[in-house]
Amino acid sequence: MSKPNMQIRPLDDLGRIVIPGDMRELLGWKSGVRLELSVGDTDSQFITIREAHPRCSLCWKEPEELLPVANGFVCGQCKESIKK
Ligand SMILES: [Zn+2]
Repeated sequence: MSKPNMQIRPLDDLGRIVIPGDMRELLGWKSGVRLELSVGDTDSQFITIREAHPRCSLCWKEPEELLPVANGFVCGQCKESIKK
């Protein structure tokens, strides 16, 4: 018996998987949503997929306010540390 929110999907030759429609609907993920994938622990062979939010390009945090820069964003704290 599997967990109700767990499904097993094959990885294709190009490394793609299909995220089931009911999961996408539950999370409000529509076509084109940007997803962030991360590997936390290679021993457990576990990845996390979540909706991507803008991050500071320097400290990688996700503060409420970000300042746009050339190819990304910078948080206020990093902006102040650059000034010094
Ligand atoms: Zn920052």
